[in-house]
Order: sequence, then C-alpha cells, then structure tokens
Amino acid sequence: MKEKDPEWKTAVLEKNGKAGENTQERQKKIKTAEKPASHNAGQPAIAVSERRFRQTDLPAHFIERRMRPRINTQQPPPQAPPRLEDYEPIIGKPELDEIRFLARHLRGKTVKMVNSTAVGGGVAEILNRLIPLLTELEIPTRWDVITGGNDFFEVTKGFHNALQGGEYNLTQQIKDIFMSYTEQNRQRMEFAEDLFVIHDPQPVGLVRSKSQKRGKWIWRCHVDLSNPHPGVWDFLKPMVEQYDATIFSAPAFTRQLTGPQYLFYPSIDPLSEKNKDLPEEYVNKVCDDFGIDRSRPVITQISRFDRLKDPVGVVESYKLVKKYVDCQLVLAGGGASDDPEGAVVLQEVMEAAGDDPDIIILNLPPWSALEINALQRASTVIVQKSLKEGFGLTVTEGLWKEKPVVAGAVGGIPTQIVHKLTGVLVHSVEGCAYQIRYLLTHPEFAAQMGKNGREHAKENFLITVNLKRWLLLFQVLLGMAKPNTVL
Ligand code: UDP
Repeated sequence: MKEKDPEWKTAVLEKNGKAGENTQERQKKIKTAEKPASHNAGQPAIAVSERRFRQTDLPAHFIERRMRPRINTQQPPPQAPPRLEDYEPIIGKPELDEIRFLARHLRGKTVKMVNSTAVGGGVAEILNRLIPLLTELEIPTRWDVITGGNDFFEVTKGFHNALQGGEYNLTQQIKDIFMSYTEQNRQRMEFAEDLFVIHDPQPVGLVRSKSQKRGKWIWRCHVDLSNPHPGVWDFLKPMVEQYDATIFSAPAFTRQLTGPQYLFYPSIDPLSEKNKDLPEEYVNKVCDDFGIDRSRPVITQISRFDRLKDPVGVVESYKLVKKYVDCQLVLAGGGASDDPEGAVVLQEVMEAAGDDPDIIILNLPPWSALEINALQRASTVIVQKSLKEGFGLTVTEGLWKEKPVVAGAVGGIPTQIVHKLTGVLVHSVEGCAYQIRYLLTHPEFAAQMGKNGREHAKENFLITVNLKRWLLLFQVLLGMAKPNTVL
C-alpha cells in the first residue's frame, strides 16, 4: 500500500483522553481510573485514547470504519443454552449415551462452582456452557462469583502473574487484603452443596469453609504453576492442600501436592455463539462494521490486552511480514473485569501500531462472542503469540474453525499444536513473522493444517469430552467409582 501526502486523520476507538495530552499523563489517568464495581458492568473496563492514521490508497469506507468501528454497545439477550441432544450431529449418539449413563448415578447431587468473574476470560466461557449441561443431567449446579474491591483485584492480578513466574513483592498487607476479601466472601456465601469446584487462585481461600461432615472440594487451576513465585506459592499452598482434589490443564502445570491431582483439558462449546457455524453474510457484515478488507489477508489475534499475550510482539511480527505481503492485522480484545492493567497495555499497543491504517485495534465489550467468531472465521491466519499462557482457548477456537494457527510454545499451547501438523509453534517475533509469511504464501499447506487442527480439537477439546471427565471425577470423589478409574 503506497503512502500519500502526510494528511492525518484521527481514529477514536473510545474517546476518553484529549488530543495532545501526553502519554505519561494519559497512563497516569488510566492507572488511577476507578474500576467498575460490578463484575458484569455494562461497559468495557478500559478506555483509551486516539490513533491517527496516515493516509493510504484504501477506499474511504474502510478508513471511515477503522476510525469509527461499529461496535455493538448493547448487550444482546442471552442465547438459550443448547440441549445435550443438539450435540448429536457433532459427536454422535454413542458418545451422548455414554454421558447420560455416567450422569445417572449422580442425579440429585448438587454442585457449586466459584470463580472471580462472570464475563471475559476462558474460565467464564467454560462455566457458561458446562453448568446448563450438568443441570440438564439433573445435577443442579450453582455458579457464584466472588466480589472484591480494586485492591483485591490488584492483588489477585499480581498473584496471577507471580504464579506464572513473574516478579512480585509479597507483603503482609497484601496477604491481609487477600484474606480479608476471602473472609468477606465466605460470610456472604453458603456452602451446602455436595461438591464445590473452586476455579483459580482468587477464590482458593474459600476452602476454609470446608466441613468434615459434608461436601467434597475441588480446586480447578487454570494457570501454569510450573514456575511460581516461591513466596506467593508458599502463601497459597496450605489452602490448596485442604482440597480433596486438584485439577490442572497440563501435566507440566502442576506442583508437588499431598492430595490427588487430575488432568483436565479445558474445552470449547461448538454450539456457542463464539464457535457455531456462521453464515458468510454475517462474517462479511462484521468485517464491514470494523473496516476489514476481505480482499487481502487478515492476521488476527484475539485476546485480553495483557502483556503476557504479547500484543506488541504481534504488531512487530506483522510489521516484518508486511514488508513482503500486503496484509492487515486485527488485534481484538477487551478488559476482563478482573484485569486492571488492561487499559495500560491497550495504550502500549496503540503506540506500537502508530499510524498504520492496516492495524485494526478493537476494544470490544464482553458481549462480542458473535463478532469474535466472525473475526476468527474471516482470518487468513490466527495468531496467539503468548509469552505465558494457561491453556489458550483462543487457539482451540482457531483450530475448531479450521484456521492455520501460529502460537507461542507456552502453557497449554503445545498440547493443542503439534508443530507443523495442527498448527505452528513459535518462540520469537522473527519466528512468528516467518511462519505467518510462510502460511500466507503456501495456502494449500495452511488449509491442510487447518483441517488437521479441527480434528484434533474435536477429539480432545470439546465441552462434551470435558463434561464426561467431570462426571467421572464427581463419581470418584463421592465414592461411586474406584479412584483408579482412568480419567
Ligand atoms: N475473549 C473474548 N473477548 C475478548 C478477548 C477474549 O471473548 O476481548 C475470549 C476468547 O475468545 C477466549 C477467551 O476469551 O474464548 C480467552 O481465553 P484464553 O484461554 O485464550 O485466555 P485467558 O483470557 O483466559 O487468559
């Protein structure tokens, strides 16, 4: 794309800062900005400044949309969750019968699942689908979300990074903040179910409500604990060891613990708005709303604006590719409501993108599942260049959509990507650029890899596979099945 005279245009993704305000001032503002009190607050938690595009030959309507993307500001009514039988065309009847058989003995047993956010992030995605299915199988399952102030979520974000190997200065005050919100949540919640499934470190301390008389407690850890900050882990470990079982997403993520551990891959729902088949007209409409030019390759990374997802690294890779192949980069994400750092990272991404009109940055609200689905389907290559990762559900989503996926070889990603078979693993900006360029210039290879990826996802990472594992584990913990049952 040739540049014209330097005529500048201003793109406002979400107008919050004044033009001319310097970056430092803006960042300070963003840092001190209040976090919405509610977890399902109507607006994205992050608000960011402006981008200016250099003028290009791109037709005016693309520029117009890139300056003012038509982002859906209204939360659509929730989709009715699918019934088990709706999965039959995808997984077949024998598989469904097996699930129903396993659930029979658990009928009437009650489950409580607890996490830290109702919207945004992979855990909420999974719970949204798993809970209605358990309920349909007559295993009543309740979902509770812990609450906390900005200080609590600053602490838990720090813990999240520290547990994945980051630096952290753990003070007594931080421990007190964590424990005081844990106690508040314990007082607020009731614990009368047969099974408690506590997701991730934020609510881990709820296990202090464990009673000797009733209920089995499971800690479902979605993060990689292979190299945790020793202080933070020493603080949390005594709580983790009170659980009757722990579940990790990959063998490498675990720690030495006294209790039994299980391996559960996370999963996606092929019938959710995020993953269901979409009419081509809808994909075109979404591209039109966001100014994406479908006549040229589209490279996409969907993820929260988090440094561990390395969005700036993706911009750098794109810039290397762009020297050889005329393409566009779409970086779409939002701020999960438990992630106060999101606004700062989004600002960094905007600065890295500079005035390139072919870098499309979308700060989407949490109800954008259909749009994300369409963006993934419109992509030529899907990237997930994480530096640290839990499992990486965006990779699973890309595989399911038969897309060639280029992703960092971290966390659960190598479980999903068999290098050069179901996708490509990368370790650097340059490697990422090389692989993207290769895929863009070898479409037949890219298409075959996409097909392999879909098969791999179907075998291993669909919600129906995950559901079966939960049913088996519940049976084991309630003494209905032998503990040596292969899970
Ligand atoms: N996601 C979303 N909106 C966003 C960013 C991500 O709905 O703005 C979804 C994404 O499609 C995926 C999940 O959130 O389903 C992210 O899960 P992943 O395991 O990739 O990362 P996490 O955010 O849990 O670290």
